[in-house]
Amino acid sequence: MKIILLGAPGTGKGTQAEKICAHCHIPQISTGNIIREAMKTKTPAGQKAQDFVNSGKLVPDEVVIEMVDDRLKQPDCANGFILDGFPRTVPQAQALESMGVHIDKVLDIEVPDQEIMQRLTGRRVCAECGSTYHIQFNPSQKGENCDKCGGQLIVRKDDQPETVTQRLQVYHDQTEPLKDFYQAKGNLVMVEGVGTVEEITARTLSALEA
Ligand code: AMP
Repeated sequence: MKIILLGAPGTGKGTQAEKICAHCHIPQISTGNIIREAMKTKTPAGQKAQDFVNSGKLVPDEVVIEMVDDRLKQPDCANGFILDGFPRTVPQAQALESMGVHIDKVLDIEVPDQEIMQRLTGRRVCAECGSTYHIQFNPSQKGENCDKCGGQLIVRKDDQPETVTQRLQVYHDQTEPLKDFYQAKGNLVMVEGVGTVEEITARTLSALEA
């Protein structure tokens, strides 16, 4: 199955992507994680991305499209994948079509902006493997360290309140038009993103079967 997860930053789409990935045995392709890894290892693409990410703006389409194109050619994507954070603009969605990728389902996770602001202040991310936690809603059992790899949990630079405001604006301006794009293709399903992780996961998995 080939799935896209749409949603503003802080809607919990990364967590849902992890759940779907475990349930459907398909890889999770998170462009945010790929970009952060490229920044950490200072690849040319990572260096190009850095200022955009840290100020809450989108990385230019051509940089991200090339990363995704390379990733989708890996053998583990042959039976399906879940795209988390891509596409984020209409040209990115068109590029995906040009790659010949047929998407089965687009899940749009909806959370009010006010709740997103609250959630992001509590978000923690593993500095080593990129796994996401929340101090209240999805805490690590190991406190300040990652359950999966033991890495240190940190607050992302782009989770600062003023950067979150900018990212939400970017989402409404540039990513939200994708809802109409996929609605017109008939494969968009809305998922109510307020509730416990378990409740939202149940909704996500049933939306995949709808
Ligand atoms: P995320 O972890 O998905 O919120 O992504 C973190 C940051 O990476 C975003 O604020 C953007 O700067 C950048 N980014 C991730 N995915 C994309 C994308 N598809 N297009 C452009 N920029 C992206």
